[in-house]
Amino acid sequence: MKYIFVTGGVISSVGKGLTSAAIGALLESRGLTVTLQKFDPYLNVDPGTMNPLQHGEVYVLKDGGETDLDLGHYERFTNTNLTKMNSLTSGQVYTTVLEKERQGVYAGQTVQVIPHITDEIKHRIEANSHDCDVLITEIGGTTGDIEGLPFMEAIREFALERPLGDVIFIHVTLVPFIKASGELKTKPTQQSVAKLREIGIIPNIIVCRCEYSLNKELRKKISLFCNVPYEAVIEEKDVEHSIYELPLVLQREGVDKLICKLLHIDDRESDMSPWQNAVRSIVAPHSSVRIGLVGKYVGLNDAYKSVLEALYHGCIANDARLELVKIDSATLEVNGVGCLEKLDAILVPGGFGSRGIEGKILAAQYAREQLIPYLGLCLGMQIATIEYARHVLGLEDAHSTEFNPETTHPVIALLDEQQKVTKLGGTMRLGAQECKLKKGTKAADIYQKDFIQERHRHRYEFNNEYRELLEKDGNFVVSGTTPNGSLVEVIELKNHPFFVACQFHPEFQSKPLHPHPLFKAFVAAAITERNKRVSQM
Ligand code: GLN
Repeated sequence: MKYIFVTGGVISSVGKGLTSAAIGALLESRGLTVTLQKFDPYLNVDPGTMNPLQHGEVYVLKDGGETDLDLGHYERFTNTNLTKMNSLTSGQVYTTVLEKERQGVYAGQTVQVIPHITDEIKHRIEANSHDCDVLITEIGGTTGDIEGLPFMEAIREFALERPLGDVIFIHVTLVPFIKASGELKTKPTQQSVAKLREIGIIPNIIVCRCEYSLNKELRKKISLFCNVPYEAVIEEKDVEHSIYELPLVLQREGVDKLICKLLHIDDRESDMSPWQNAVRSIVAPHSSVRIGLVGKYVGLNDAYKSVLEALYHGCIANDARLELVKIDSATLEVNGVGCLEKLDAILVPGGFGSRGIEGKILAAQYAREQLIPYLGLCLGMQIATIEYARHVLGLEDAHSTEFNPETTHPVIALLDEQQKVTKLGGTMRLGAQECKLKKGTKAADIYQKDFIQERHRHRYEFNNEYRELLEKDGNFVVSGTTPNGSLVEVIELKNHPFFVACQFHPEFQSKPLHPHPLFKAFVAAAITERNKRVSQM
């Protein structure tokens, strides 16, 4: 087993997650198996209860783990299958140590950060040391943060306890461009590396995020002052078109060759052609498609990270450029549907809380009536159901009890087991579950399968008391359910070119090299319907 630890310097959001994921892709392209994990210094046990505006989306794993969005990058860039074990927060570490302390496990010892907290962190590295050639661990936060110190100490000790050549440290840092003087500056990088060395970590490779290319002089300077060989100064210039260029950018800098050399891994052939093909269709696509994302947090791309990425993947599969139109559902509620007029398709993603709900209902109504392709994800399915009940069945106050507990027509409601829940963290319907698709429906046609597995993260469900009524006219079709038929998973409209909505989150299983069938079909429908409209004009 070989180990790569990735730390970040100078600023947060410097791109450690993407860099780690891209390195994973490069190593896989050489036939190595990789696993990635993230250590986060915050005290939340998981990000499940954190506001997406602060933390970005919550990424859901197959086993129901609610994790940081970086795990999404790991799964999208590589073939690794992540579980709750691949995400560790200080909150989890402290919870474990304190529980052990209460159980008397430490038998009279004074419980301290070193060695008890650090040992717990090292155990996690050991626990993930199987079934792969290389384990890549990203340490969240920025070097120098007080919160991150126990993780830094643990990885330093871990490296010390391993034979030389088993562990390397990669530091991702920012080399800012100063406009006034027209120069790139290396001082923040030097200071950040000095901070790392202070805690006993000597980076083997420095990945420099920059807006402009590093010249020879700058590379020499970073090499000399940061104590890394010249070839270990890696330029990671902002990518021009897409994050999926990153593995190719890093390969051009020779980072995979260097990693193999440092970790004593045979220098094998690498096949990056799938990435080259994907990037080619991103850079020079045949057509373009305008898709509206109607959500509450549209100001922040990270809040809908996986949905946006899945849309990009759907576009790669259709050789189209994504023109994303972000529509704030609360504004739509006030200003009306005018903003939807020029869209080729509408997507309503997942969400919680009542702000902007009526705006989303208006968007679903517009898509249904104007025959615009619609994809509803989780809340987007609940919205579509409410809209149909209200405007087609005439159940005027139909709603989800999440937003109106008093509604006389709770078409979306809590199951008994959820009504008993008192703690909010980790108690939703979470993770991959099986879904049975109804033969002859659009969903079955899209997936080309009878049974699928998709990831969930929600508390409320389609209320079966309304199923018969909703399906009565033959237009509203329940096309997917749990295998025993008890819970509704997918709905669609028959008399519509593409109106599909699901209770699960397909976006968590889409990859640039394997676009998800639902997103692929949604983008395809958007293009077909747009072309039809244009030819009718
Ligand atoms: N708020 C809804 C629920 O809890 C939808 C959740 C979601 O979209 N992820 O059921």
